[in-house]
Amino acid sequence: MTIKRQNILGMPLEDLVSFFNEIEEKDYRAKQLMQWIYSKHIYDFDLMTNFNLELRSHLNQNCSLDFDDAIRSELSEDGTQKWLIGKKDNQIIETVFIPEEKRGTLCISSQVGCLIDCPFCATGHQGFNRNLSSSEIIGQVLLAREELGEGRLTNIVFMGMGEPLANYPEVIKAIKILNDPHGCNISRRRITVSTSGLVPQLYKLSEEVGVSLAVSLHAANDVLRDELVPINRKHPIGELLDACWHYADFQNLRSVTFEYTMLKGVNDSAKDAKQLSKLLKNKPAKVNLIPFNPFPGVRFKPTDQNKINDFRNILLESGIMTTTRKTRGDDIQAACGQLSGQVMNLAKKTLRQKLKKTLH
Ligand code: SAH
Ligand code: SF4
Repeated sequence: MTIKRQNILGMPLEDLVSFFNEIEEKDYRAKQLMQWIYSKHIYDFDLMTNFNLELRSHLNQNCSLDFDDAIRSELSEDGTQKWLIGKKDNQIIETVFIPEEKRGTLCISSQVGCLIDCPFCATGHQGFNRNLSSSEIIGQVLLAREELGEGRLTNIVFMGMGEPLANYPEVIKAIKILNDPHGCNISRRRITVSTSGLVPQLYKLSEEVGVSLAVSLHAANDVLRDELVPINRKHPIGELLDACWHYADFQNLRSVTFEYTMLKGVNDSAKDAKQLSKLLKNKPAKVNLIPFNPFPGVRFKPTDQNKINDFRNILLESGIMTTTRKTRGDDIQAACGQLSGQVMNLAKKTLRQKLKKTLH
């Protein structure tokens, strides 16, 4: 009979302290374990030389520090790198690294698929499979760190597959580890949670570590947003914005970023821009316009660049700081909203066969 070992990789410091106390070890063991993992890159209990033999043997028998390997890695012409990570239950998730001059951003997944079902998003089209555990979320960061080498990873964004606030407990554990000086030691403002607008969880999040917040707005009125971001039917724009202003105020955040994917003829008119300005004027808000990234089978089209510029200018005239996101990694289907696109198409069958081979 095989004994199921507990994966303790996803435990934040406070949980590790309780874990060690339960086996009659002192609190400081928790920090020691984190130092092995995050400073020394050691994942083998036998090599943790400041743990006595008895403790090492207990950990070996009952625990693991497992994270999944990439079954495929793809490098875009612009330097963006995407890893497809195979799970033991045959699921596949994606993690993307975006290098820039002064920073390196890792875009991580929080769920396999997504329940929110925004019609312009490839992850939504895939449907929902399951939540990722905090070990699986942290595992993506460790995999990228091992592949990229020390010092390249400066920022983390929860903008991969899934709605992070729909997997709240596991995402919070992961955020605590990312932010912990004994963990990944990434400052809270360099960690961004992007949400489609789960209002109760947003209020809860404002009580936590104070990460940067991005909100997927995509429409400036409820009729259109009900269609583009279906969670709006439950939590309409007014309610969502109140939660955002509360978050900014409570966490002393200079601004909340509002993501707005530009969909041709749908949400990109001058009237839309004026409506959006009215909502955000004189508020702690900035806007990030995202060029739509198409994928097979989707009914939307990207807005032309000159119309994106016109839209941006209307917002700027109202004093709203507005940027246009540069599309990165689209040649390897790693751009926003394209995650799962390729897995859904040609590569899916071969990848699953490969995954089966590595697991059995
Ligand atoms: N579920 C979260 C985070 C993941 S999506 C959220 O919705 O915020 C990250 C961003 O990419 C979101 O703003 C999302 O709306 C946007 N996006 C999704 N599909 C897109 C597509 N096909 N083209 C451009 N942006 C897209
Ligand atoms: Fe889910 Fe975000 Fe995609 Fe909407 S945009 S379906 S919330 S991953």
